[in-house]
This record gives sequence, C-alpha cells and structure tokens, in this order.
Amino acid sequence: MGVALVTGASRGIGRAVAIGLAQDGFVVGVNYVHSESAAAAVIAEIKAAGGQAFSVGFDVSDESAVETAIKTFVAQAGGLDVLCNNAGIAIDGLAMRVSRQDWQHTLDVNLTGAFLCCKAASRALLKSPAGRIVNISSVVGEQGNAGQVSYAASKAGLIGLTRALAREYAARGVTVNCVSPGYIETEMTAAHLTGEKKSELLKRIPLGRVGTPEDVASAVRFLASPEASYITGQVVRVNGGLLM
Ligand code: NAD
Repeated sequence: MGVALVTGASRGIGRAVAIGLAQDGFVVGVNYVHSESAAAAVIAEIKAAGGQAFSVGFDVSDESAVETAIKTFVAQAGGLDVLCNNAGIAIDGLAMRVSRQDWQHTLDVNLTGAFLCCKAASRALLKSPAGRIVNISSVVGEQGNAGQVSYAASKAGLIGLTRALAREYAARGVTVNCVSPGYIETEMTAAHLTGEKKSELLKRIPLGRVGTPEDVASAVRFLASPEASYITGQVVRVNGGLLM
C-alpha cells in the first residue's frame, strides 16, 4: 500500500498514529529526535504485527536534517503518501514571564518544524496518487489557554498553514487537514492530568473522560484513508466535546 511518515513517533500520540497507520497497511517512517531506542521499540511492535517500518531520526526544526532525512526515507521506502506532523513541545508559563528564547523554541518546533517537513516532503507527496498531510494542532490553538501563549500561537499557526497548503495542493489531489485533540493522556500532559486538576477538567468534558492516543490516531487514520479523499482544509476535533 502507501508510505507514511510520522514525526515525534517514539511515544504518545505519534506512536499510536505510527502503529495505527502500519495496521492500515502503510510502510511507516518512525521519526524521533532523541529516543532512538523508543523508536526502535515502536518499529519492533509494528514488525511483530506483520507491518513494515523504518527509523527516521531528525530534529524537525533543523532544516538541513529534515531535508536529508526525508529524502533518504523517500528513497528507501519508494515514495511518500502521508505526512503526519505530530512532533511538538509545550513550554508553559505566564505571558509576562515567557522568554523570547522559549517562545522562539516552541514556534521553531511546533510550527516551523511542520512547515519544513511539509516543504521537504512536498515533491514526493505531489507525486502520490493520494497524498495526505495531517497536522496535529490542539484545542489550545483554537480557544487559547492561560499559561500557554507560545504553544497556543504555534497550534493556531498550524491551522493557518494547513488551510494555505490545502488550497495550494488541492489541484494536485493532495489533502491537508488538522486533527485538534483536547486533553489526551500522554507524557506531555501527565503533570496536568492528576488529582484536583484532572477532576476539574473532567467536569468540562461532556464525554466525561480524557482521551487516549488511539482516539487521536483514529482520526488521523481516517484522514489518511481513501474514504477521506473529499476532505481538505478542515480541523477535525477529537476532544470529548470540550470545544464544540
Ligand atoms: P509527547 O511529548 O509524548 O510527544 C511529543 C513527541 O514529539 C515526542 O516523541 C518528542 O520526542 C517529539 N519531539 C519533540 N520535539 C521534537 C523535534 N524537535 N523533532 C522531532 N521530534 C520532536 O506528547 P503527545 O501528547 O504525544 O503530543 C503529540 C502531539 O500532539 C504534539 O504536537 C502535541 O502538541 C499535540 N497535542 C497533544 C495533546 C495532549 O493532550 N497530549 C493535546 C493536543 C495536542
């Protein structure tokens, strides 16, 4: 079938997306930045289930590394059909105290990183008969959150990037969409999803639970599938009803 590349796929949502796309028959590039062994474990899990996967190490914010690694992966895998820009970081802090450096670093990884991957993958995606880009935004990018100014700006920016690219690539049959998760239980949110904070949050989620990485992966898998070929420029919310 097709070939997919998932950034930040060694853990959390990216890991679930990589495993899910492999279950759907994609040859998957498992990108990681530091945790080569965690990426290797994801690849071993995919292979044990009969799938195919490659380890693709690069920092999404390093332009030359992105270009070289994506080029090598496309050659190895024989093309590229799906790019899922999942890699992300959150550096929390009240706006008055956020340093320029932390602001820039968040934007560099979450927004510029996605742009650089889209750019490096474009040639291969445009050659695909069913190219797909799925960017992982956030409910925080849609409605803001006190203490997350850089994260919110980066995730809102991803929605703009998605819609611009959706228009640019539509004529070539490449769809570009966002998945916007609410609160998902991963290492990124572990500190926020405990005790009092968690019970307060649960009161605001109509479905009464936080999400799992697999809840998000299901939406990505759908957007990557032939059934989603008429969907582009959209923001698909996976948030238990937190934002409607
Ligand atoms: P996570 O911290 O478990 O995973 C993030 C992954 O991105 C990690 O594997 C990390 O190594 C990778 N990464 C970070 N910087 C990178 C870089 N420069 N280059 C390559 N990879 C890099 O968090 P998660 O919850 O799985 O988050 C995945 C995505 O989903 C992120 O973009 C996050 O903002 C978004 N998101 C998460 C939630 C949530 O509640 N967990 C909600 C909305 C959106």
